[in-house]
Amino acid sequence: GSAAPAFAQQSAKAAVGAVRIGSNECWTGPLPAGAEAAMLIVKDGNRYEPSDQHAELFKAVSKVEGVPVERILAWPGSSDPLARVPVTFASPKRGIVTADPTYESIWRTGAWIGAKVTKVPLTSDYRHDVKAMVAADPNAGLFYVCSPNNPTGTITPVEDLEWLAQNKPKDAILLIDEAYIHWSDTPRAVRLAVERDDVIVMRTFSKLFGMAGMRLGLTFASPALHEKMMRYDGGQVTNMLPMTAVACGAASVPLAAQIKQRADEMIAARDYAIAHLEKRGVKVIPGSKANMFMAEWKGKTPKEMMALFLANGVQIGRGWTAYPQMSRITVGSMEEMQKFCLAYDKIAMA
Ligand code: PLP
Repeated sequence: GSAAPAFAQQSAKAAVGAVRIGSNECWTGPLPAGAEAAMLIVKDGNRYEPSDQHAELFKAVSKVEGVPVERILAWPGSSDPLARVPVTFASPKRGIVTADPTYESIWRTGAWIGAKVTKVPLTSDYRHDVKAMVAADPNAGLFYVCSPNNPTGTITPVEDLEWLAQNKPKDAILLIDEAYIHWSDTPRAVRLAVERDDVIVMRTFSKLFGMAGMRLGLTFASPALHEKMMRYDGGQVTNMLPMTAVACGAASVPLAAQIKQRADEMIAARDYAIAHLEKRGVKVIPGSKANMFMAEWKGKTPKEMMALFLANGVQIGRGWTAYPQMSRITVGSMEEMQKFCLAYDKIAMA
């Protein structure tokens, strides 16, 4: 048959019982209050919307992020808008400009719709090279920036994003993917999606909120852009959401102290693992502000390292063609990162 999609290649089955730090999932489940809200609403699952769940989610998000309710839309994760935005704003005549390496989903959608996809290397300090991105395709309909970037975890400063918004072709759209923003203490791009009508900021509950399998995401954008994104399902897009996810998200978003505690614990686990590798002479891409980092192996490919780690009970992430000697490592719990470090030492000594 045809090749399995990328996400299916790294089979979940192969990793059962292993430390799973390969897919940028959160090591722990939803925040307890969110899980409770989801369980409570199951009994009302016969209704498309038992009461006012969407409005409650949007109100909660609006309060935390300072985005007016009319500029917020919810999705089953961010994969749907990440495909829908290029389908809406790019075409064989209007290209897509992204970084390299970055999250490749948009490359595949771009190829499928016949849009020219231009991949611009990150700067030497692993930011998106916004000047080179603007210069890369004067006909671009869409610029995609992932900050913190997957797989490097590095930030592109909001000033650079603002410059990109101001200097791209006027009718092009800037899509900013903030899937990993909750581990970062730098200013967010949300303001751009409030002040401008040509910027979309995208969030997901799959990462810090621990809801990857429950499916919830958000876009912040002008009502006009959202309307264009919904053209092919007649404006009924929010009907695709399970109420369990909507209720869980609405209950989780306001929990600032728990969100920060979860982020801080994972940052400590990340920095522990990075320090361990660096002590062993392994180069790690500096500046990660996310639940992932990239490590450079000497004399082994990412594929070989993945197999070696799995043989030691740890499922690490894959490589990216731009950096052929590196693997992406997701940050798990402190205990899991200790197991990862032990596994590395075993592999290095073998
Ligand atoms: N954007 C980025 C940068 C990601 O890393 C991912 C998943 O890994 C996604 C979007 C899509 O995830 P989801 O559909 O679960 O929100």
